[in-house]
Amino acid sequence: MRFRCPICGLDVDVPDDVISGEIVEHDCGAVLEVVMRDGGISLKPLEGVQEDWGE
Ligand SMILES: [Zn+2]
Repeated sequence: MRFRCPICGLDVDVPDDVISGEIVEHDCGAVLEVVMRDGGISLKPLEGVQEDWGE
């Protein structure tokens, strides 16, 4: 399957058997989380998540 990167706007290749919550790294350096919602799949930028570590 092919989706659009929410960061750079280019295509992102995602395996057909991808599951919700899976992490996909794009060529632009963006880290994206696969989100399944309403029978569809979208990619959500995974940013700032690791900032909680060490607090
Ligand atoms: Zn990208």
